[in-house]
Amino acid sequence: MDKWECEVCGYIYDPENGDPDQGISPGTPFEALPDNWVCPICKAPKEMFKIKR
Ligand SMILES: [Zn+2]
Repeated sequence: MDKWECEVCGYIYDPENGDPDQGISPGTPFEALPDNWVCPICKAPKEMFKIKR
């Protein structure tokens, strides 16, 4: 699964870790995150993320 980077603060969303603080289980791909998910650091919306290769 791909990692995604927040273009605002540089946070990396790693699907292997998920985002337990927002109820996202490990193993959840970025594409499957709910539309109201936000960056846990700067609260930027999903639209501000880009795929990290
Ligand atoms: Zn951010």
